[in-house]
Amino acid sequence: MRVAVVGAGLGGLAAACHLVGQRHDVVVLERGARPGGRAGLLAEAGYRLDTGPSVLTMADIVADTLAAAGTDPALLELVPLDPLYRATFAAGGDPEGAGVIHVRRDREAMREEITAVAGSGEARSFDRFCTWLTALYRLEVPHFIDRNFDVPADLASSPGALLALVRSGALRRLSSVVSEYFADPRLQRLFSFQALYAGLSPLEALAVYGVITYMDTVAGVYLPRGGMHALPQALADAARAGGAELRFEAPVARIRRRPGRGGAVTGVELASGEVVEVDCVVANPDLPLVYRLLLDGLAPPLVARRGEYSPSAAVWLVGARGPLPPGAAHHNIHFGEDWAPSFEALLREGVPMRDPSILVSVPSVTEPSLAPPGGHAYDFLEPVPNLDGRIDWAYQREWMRDRLEQRVRRLGYLEGATVEVESFTDPLDWLRQGMERGTPFSLSHRFFQTGPFRPANVDARVPGLVLVGSGTVPGVGVPMVLLSGRLAAERVAEWAAGRRPRPGRWRR
Ligand SMILES: Cc1cc2nc3c(=O)[nH]c(=O)nc-3n(C[C@H](O)[C@H](O)[C@H](O)COP(=O)(O)OP(=O)(O)OC[C@H]3O[C@@H](n4cnc5c(N)ncnc54)[C@H](O)[C@@H]3O)c2cc1C
Repeated sequence: MRVAVVGAGLGGLAAACHLVGQRHDVVVLERGARPGGRAGLLAEAGYRLDTGPSVLTMADIVADTLAAAGTDPALLELVPLDPLYRATFAAGGDPEGAGVIHVRRDREAMREEITAVAGSGEARSFDRFCTWLTALYRLEVPHFIDRNFDVPADLASSPGALLALVRSGALRRLSSVVSEYFADPRLQRLFSFQALYAGLSPLEALAVYGVITYMDTVAGVYLPRGGMHALPQALADAARAGGAELRFEAPVARIRRRPGRGGAVTGVELASGEVVEVDCVVANPDLPLVYRLLLDGLAPPLVARRGEYSPSAAVWLVGARGPLPPGAAHHNIHFGEDWAPSFEALLREGVPMRDPSILVSVPSVTEPSLAPPGGHAYDFLEPVPNLDGRIDWAYQREWMRDRLEQRVRRLGYLEGATVEVESFTDPLDWLRQGMERGTPFSLSHRFFQTGPFRPANVDARVPGLVLVGSGTVPGVGVPMVLLSGRLAAERVAEWAAGRRPRPGRWRR
């Protein structure tokens, strides 16, 4: 079957890898000049600054995706990080007033760290907590994450797993479960903040989202040799080696269909006017935009129109020559003093957090080639409301950028350093890049926006169209988006076998 993949983001590339593995004839059409989409690259003055993800987890999913295209996963070296994170806790105006905790890769080292900062009781709890997280992950992935759903009733197709999930406490609040394991409020934050990656308040998220904590704390964090952008490059190389044709600077303007309601796709039309005829289209742009721009304004599924989108991020990328602050690690989470009020501001009020917790990544600590000698590559990320919030970014952009710069300087970054490259990205920039509501993190993972309730990767109104990426199943983040490529390829196989998507009224 001839398949066009529109977009060479991680989702589109993962789909291409699986599709060539299934012997389809694949052409990837990307509007940009290089692969990666949100996992982009700013290369300037000898710096290589990754514009998107910095925390890479689930190395086995990366390996499976490369292997699907017939590439040896060892060709992409994944460097394990230790510590995974350095977390600082503010108190009394001192950014480290409540201490520093290193999340260590090795279980024994982590036990020692917790014993030193919080006592042996908490260290013993850590073992029990990891056992719980591991069981949760093993239960959720095959039954609820790495699978396609046609209708919500499919949830009940594994009643045993559903029952085990309920019994494990997964439908309770994550914060309650974590606080049963740990009395120390710093550890409670450290093992629940990951809910924010799914667009949820750690105080309100269900414990099912503990799987995200599993993905970093238990399964480990990595950096591809050469930086994060080496990942999309490796996937693109694998798809090409497997037989896919990759075309860059080839924006798609329209998905073509047979005339009449419910007409199947016949190909894509590029902005240049060229038509590429195919049997099936896999679309990777942000899901609501596929409908609005490429399908002549067809209404996106109801949940994509009316659902709740994740908070966004203000990102200040810097290449600077000069020293790092003492103790700085590859990933540094600087927790503010506020906790509950921060999530209230971010998720309910739609205003800047008064005392934000921020993530500072300095990948050149692990991979010096990302900066010229004596320099470092920095990624300063502050969670901010998406464009449904109450910040007028056209007016407040400079103020927000300066506030972030002052905060990182107070934390000791860039002291005695010369900034040589910088770039600031706000939600209006994400919107201009084609991201709904100005967030790169898509629909949040509220329960009714997850699994069978998330926009499906097929739509009965457009036979032969398959969606891929963070707007559809299973969801947001590098591991999920790679899995979405596998799930998309499964849908292509169904289409090739003559199975039409089942209508689901709940999706409209
Ligand atoms: C700042 C930031 C930090 C992040 N941090 C992390 C992290 O630490 N860990 C993690 O796991 N995840 C993180 N993420 C999330 C992760 O990067 C995304 O979930 C993932 O990369 C999304 O991939 P995608 O394939 O869905 O979309 P995209 O990468 O957006 O891919 C869509 C592709 O389609 C192309 N396209 C769009 N329109 C057209 C058209 N008309 N014709 C042709 N091509 C088109 C785009 O150019 C793009 O290449 C982060 C994201 C950002 C932005």
